[in-house]
Amino acid sequence: MSNEHFKVIIIGTGPAGLTAGIYAARADLAPLILEGDQPGGQLTITTEVENYPGFENGIMGPELMEQFRNQAKRFGADCRSITATSVDFSTTPHRIETTKGTFTADAVIVASGARALLLGLESESRLMGHGVSACATCDGFFFRGKKIAVVGGGDSAMEEATFLTKFADKVTVIHRRDSLRASKAMQNKAMENPKIDFMWNAVVTDVLGDPENGMHALRVKSTTDDSEKDVPFEGLFLAIGHKPNTEFLGGQLTLDDSGYVITHDGTKTSKEGVFACGDVQDHTYRQAITAAGSGCMAALDAERYLEAKGH
Ligand code: NAP
Repeated sequence: MSNEHFKVIIIGTGPAGLTAGIYAARADLAPLILEGDQPGGQLTITTEVENYPGFENGIMGPELMEQFRNQAKRFGADCRSITATSVDFSTTPHRIETTKGTFTADAVIVASGARALLLGLESESRLMGHGVSACATCDGFFFRGKKIAVVGGGDSAMEEATFLTKFADKVTVIHRRDSLRASKAMQNKAMENPKIDFMWNAVVTDVLGDPENGMHALRVKSTTDDSEKDVPFEGLFLAIGHKPNTEFLGGQLTLDDSGYVITHDGTKTSKEGVFACGDVQDHTYRQAITAAGSGCMAALDAERYLEAKGH
């Protein structure tokens, strides 16, 4: 079991954590990056990324994250397959308990991201990136001319359904109740869109298809009479909410009502020497490029903090 000290420890390896790693390593801070349970973060469950600037012809999500990682390592970042399980930010240096022992750091960058909530179906995981997606901005473009479904009844579902009509021929919102949770304005916008229709009192119980050929239908169950039917769809977008990965923080940083880390003055958190970047503190933009940008900010903030503290 390890008990090492670092100037900077970065928790998370999505675009935010790895960009923080690149900047911290180039500032000679030799950061330790804890890769966590899903190295590379949410981009590793998408297929092609077409909106990351600098990749004119697009790049596969996992390959993009591999390039981020290699770039961070090239400058001396120490990436390890370790998951943070709890933290103690009340002591100096800060302590992080992990699956491989205790680590301490003068500055900590929390970049643990968020996860899209999923329905929990085996077929949904199997077809993720092959017809199933949790990000319309990332994947909508691949559904040009297709008939797709969006699951959810909140603002995200209305926003995603509306956005997807730019590409798809028909978008069906599948909602488990007979009334929406979304704000009136967003409901109206979706309901007035001729390309959007609604399937009420219905839940998806299976995604039919295979990774080679994509999905071709959804098995949908009525919540009123339990009857099931297969409905042809070529895409499924999940919009049932996101959850920030903040459980391991054990309430030591101030979070907002939805559990996201609150930052101020750039990437500072409620604890001195602890910074946060990427989706763990952003439920508005949630893009790889904005996460990377805030990762850069966190590394610069950490560097300035350490300088001011004379480390
Ligand atoms: P949300 O408000 O929590 O809505 C989630 C929706 O998914 C609900 O309609 C819920 O159904 C449904 N759902 C949850 N679990 C499900 C399951 N297992 N199976 C089927 N359906 C399920 O989440 P959100 O839409 O992502 O919004 C999150 C927050 O961000 C909200 O405060 C929202 O206002 C905000 N937001 C704002 C904007 C904007 O203003 N532009 C855009 C997006 C999000 P029930 O209704 O039956 O619970």
